Amino acid sequence: MSRGAVTRDLLIAQARWLKMPGLLRAFEACARQAREEKWTHEEYLYEVLCAEQTSRNDSAVRTRLREARFPELKTLDTFDFRAVEGVSPTEIADLARGDYIARKENVIFAGPIGTGKTHLATALGIEAAKQKRRVLFVRAADLVRSLVEARDQRELGRLTRRLQAVDLLICDELGFVPFDRAGGELLFNALANRYERGSVIVTTNLSFAEWVRVLGSDEKLTTALLDRLAHHATVITTKGKSYRMRRRQPRSMAPTPEAPTD
Ligand code: ADP
Ligand code: MG
Repeated sequence: MSRGAVTRDLLIAQARWLKMPGLLRAFEACARQAREEKWTHEEYLYEVLCAEQTSRNDSAVRTRLREARFPELKTLDTFDFRAVEGVSPTEIADLARGDYIARKENVIFAGPIGTGKTHLATALGIEAAKQKRRVLFVRAADLVRSLVEARDQRELGRLTRRLQAVDLLICDELGFVPFDRAGGELLFNALANRYERGSVIVTTNLSFAEWVRVLGSDEKLTTALLDRLAHHATVITTKGKSYRMRRRQPRSMAPTPEAPTD
């Protein structure tokens, strides 16, 4: 075996042992380029370390995305701002930078079904995950079910800590299913616990006046929750027709062009 081949094998083993997959993938191509372009040793070292850094960053983002449990990976670049009223691209771009998460503020998307609330909430969550923030996406009904189950199994403390540990909790579809009083209280506690401690994004098809229906018709609880959620919140009200319905509209329903007049 040549000296070069021995070194190569040792290097591969060493990179594996040190858990440096980016370096492992890059070192040979970089070495070739380094020879061709006469890089210094320092330049070569810098390039392979950059490859390792990129690889670690990518894998951290992949982990964050997996942990967030998004039902679908809807991103900002597939969102058509012209198709919805009430959503400003600049405002969303501003939110995408994630400063509201650092400030532990909230975002509320309210509006009719199919107007892009879940899409936007997911897209903001993905941006946060790319910034390596811990995100968790849950449907309100699933969250309440998990809370009730955890309470019954005396594991509420653990679930509460898990919910507290994320930087951004996305609670989707608040108001789709009304909860009984106990469920309402559990949800209230889960969301109110995050007040000024961590961000929440809520999507809802209800207007604030209708929120009392959500928390087991408990007006006091609802007012208290709204107070906390909306205190430091950007409220975005989506308007217009359902995006899905619009796309599905058959041609025959489109207005017929006017007959030319002569
Ligand atoms: P909502 O949560 O408000 O009910 P969704 O976000 O689930 O609505 O949107 C319904 C479907 O339409 C999704 O597949 C979503 O990606 C798509 N959609 C909605 N609004 C837009 C838009 N403005 N641009 C691109 N896709 C959209
Ligand atoms: Mg939705």
